[in-house]
Amino acid sequence: MPDKPKIAMYWAASCGGCEISLANLHANILAVDAAFQLVFCPCLVDGKKRDVEALKDGELLITFFNGAIRTDENQEMAHLLRKKSKILIAYGSCAYEGCIPGLSNFHSKQDHFKAIYLDNPSIENPQKIVPQTETKVPEGTLTIPAFHDRVRTLAQTVDVDYFLPGCPPESFKVWEVIDSVIQGKALPPKGTIIGAGKCTVCDECEKKKEDKKIKRLYRTHEIVPDREKCLLEQGILCMGPATRDGCKAQCPNNADMPCTGCYGPPSGVRDQGAKMIAALGTALDLGDVSTLSEEQVAARVEEVIKAIPDYAGMLYKYSLPGSILGGKR
Ligand code: SF4
Repeated sequence: MPDKPKIAMYWAASCGGCEISLANLHANILAVDAAFQLVFCPCLVDGKKRDVEALKDGELLITFFNGAIRTDENQEMAHLLRKKSKILIAYGSCAYEGCIPGLSNFHSKQDHFKAIYLDNPSIENPQKIVPQTETKVPEGTLTIPAFHDRVRTLAQTVDVDYFLPGCPPESFKVWEVIDSVIQGKALPPKGTIIGAGKCTVCDECEKKKEDKKIKRLYRTHEIVPDREKCLLEQGILCMGPATRDGCKAQCPNNADMPCTGCYGPPSGVRDQGAKMIAALGTALDLGDVSTLSEEQVAARVEEVIKAIPDYAGMLYKYSLPGSILGGKR
């Protein structure tokens, strides 16, 4: 029997949910095992970096790379796995757009170290030590990877073939992608977003939609929503209009919770936060503004949107490094 094609999965700056989404293939994981040899996946398989280095260039059929690029180690592994892989897939929101780790782009590396190692009330650090890439100890020199100033997406670091969004990707969509490879189906053009739709979460959402006229915004703990009606129409900031479909609108449909945007912008939209701001701009009910000055209109807008506690955290929760803004400038 010929050798099975080799695949890999790597975990850079991320939470581990992407590995769980692979494990959530349930019985289909047996089909993955039957079709492929998983040679490198630090979370599941005891393969080492040197094993990857020993592979021929392009010997891995597919690498599912999850996690953003935060450190020298993440960057080095991105370059190594790019070289060894025929197909490199940015798997999950962190690799695709930067996701939650990417929100740190609003702060400098020094700010992070100060908050984590110096001002943190839960640690004792009387010598005010922050991580160094090299530390001399009696036994020799300890090294750790350098922490970068900014979080980057995988595509901002190496050439990427496909993008599979989600935080984490829904397992039924992951299976669709893997099964199409097993079936030998033709690959889509390079750069395609796979395992997702082209429209918005609203298109998959079963809640009843009427005219959106939002007089005030609520945080989720401030209101018990009508389960039948669109959450945004009830004043709950739902990112559905600015988010790619494919997840079956799990959060609004199954949990009556607003979409937070983890599948990234829909087809044709460059910047998810800007798209949501535009959607809100058409949905806010400011009353009759025909006789108001620009300043008075702005004040009314401010009155409604001040209920959002953290604009960036709501509108760019998953997409900051990959957005037009990118972070603090
Ligand atoms: Fe769209 Fe959210 Fe309203 Fe559903 S609840 S229709 S996803 S805005």
